[in-house]
Amino acid sequence: MLVVTTPTPEQTRDLGARLGRLLSSGDLVLLHGDLGAGKTTFTQGVARGLGVVTFVQSPTFALVHEHLGATSQEQPVTLFHLDLYRLAEEEELESFGFADYLTPTGGITIIEWPELARDALPESFLLVQLEATGEASRRITFQAVPPDGKYANHVARLDPANSPIRE
Ligand code: ADP
Ligand code: MG
Repeated sequence: MLVVTTPTPEQTRDLGARLGRLLSSGDLVLLHGDLGAGKTTFTQGVARGLGVVTFVQSPTFALVHEHLGATSQEQPVTLFHLDLYRLAEEEELESFGFADYLTPTGGITIIEWPELARDALPESFLLVQLEATGEASRRITFQAVPPDGKYANHVARLDPANSPIRE
């Protein structure tokens, strides 16, 4: 587990960008946190780390937005950005093919409000929890699930103690 505190939205984006550069096709990232915690802001950084040029905003009416990008290994990927906040009921998940986004071939999936699809989530993912600790400070916790699973390496490489936070 890794805990980082960011004092500004831009540093949250920087941290997201660091994660973006570590991701590869098939990865799944779940974002926990209250409204305004910074989930979309963090996702903007992840997108930047993946070289996405289209604007990442909260998907208001659509449950999913797609952005084209590339991994740091220069593999083209689609970033699937899901926001389940407006999900009316879990049954609705089926109608937009939710299960396909959980094992994204040629893509990376990042989900805001995954709690609302609790029963449909897989066993392995990178969990990012965001929490407001002040007007502009956020505590961001990274956790590989399961702890020794494929995301353990992402968490280790994100640790600012292992390399400086600004690149
Ligand atoms: P969520 O998607 O979790 O509802 P958003 O990313 O849309 O949250 O909004 C977060 C809000 O908090 C933005 O207005 C952002 O500018 C502000 N903010 C202030 N400080 C931070 C910080 N350190 N990290 C992220 N967002 C911050
Ligand atoms: Mg949001």
